[in-house]
Amino acid sequence: MTKNRLIFLGPPGAGKGTQAKILADYLGIPHISTGEILRKAKQEGTPVGLQAKAYMDRGDLVPDSVLQELVRERLQQTDAQTQGWILDGFPRTLVQANFLETLLPEINQSCNLAINITVADEVLVSRLGKRAELEGRSDDTEEVIRNRLVVYGQETAPLIDFYQKSSNTTLVTVDGDRSLEVITDELKKLTA
Ligand code: AMP
Repeated sequence: MTKNRLIFLGPPGAGKGTQAKILADYLGIPHISTGEILRKAKQEGTPVGLQAKAYMDRGDLVPDSVLQELVRERLQQTDAQTQGWILDGFPRTLVQANFLETLLPEINQSCNLAINITVADEVLVSRLGKRAELEGRSDDTEEVIRNRLVVYGQETAPLIDFYQKSSNTTLVTVDGDRSLEVITDELKKLTA
């Protein structure tokens, strides 16, 4: 049986994290969120957390080298090797995408699907504002939210073209401006 190894693309606020978590539970595979790993590192004050803090608080991307080491280590853990994974929030730059293309064959893995969840910008700003109130994330103030959207457009949006051209990974676009359940159903069908 082919193992599911999936990437979730899409702007902050598109519902990536929520859907990635639901789908990972449903498929019984690890949900690997680089944002979550970094937030935990920040809270615990580890060297990676200390390095990442200022970037995250501004809504900027943490340097590629930090993310590459983190992902290289995580994908080689036993659960990821044996069960597959959903990568949520990585890759976010072309450097990271090229890194993953090189890393995967080295560790005998491949990524079958990249899911791009799309949502209009106005909807994103309003959703992220609501999340800021609920979760109290320090990177969800309006100014930081707007910066995260700019960074997404500059650094991450080019990955859509990258995966469109990829011969290893199929890119699928999913309309994120629908109810959570409808989107989840579509994702389940895509990975069946
Ligand atoms: P997220 O929870 O995925 O929205 O990530 C929260 C923050 O963590 C981002 O705004 C970045 O500062 C940092 N981050 C997460 N993943 C990456 C990545 N792949 N590359 C660079 N920075 C990242």
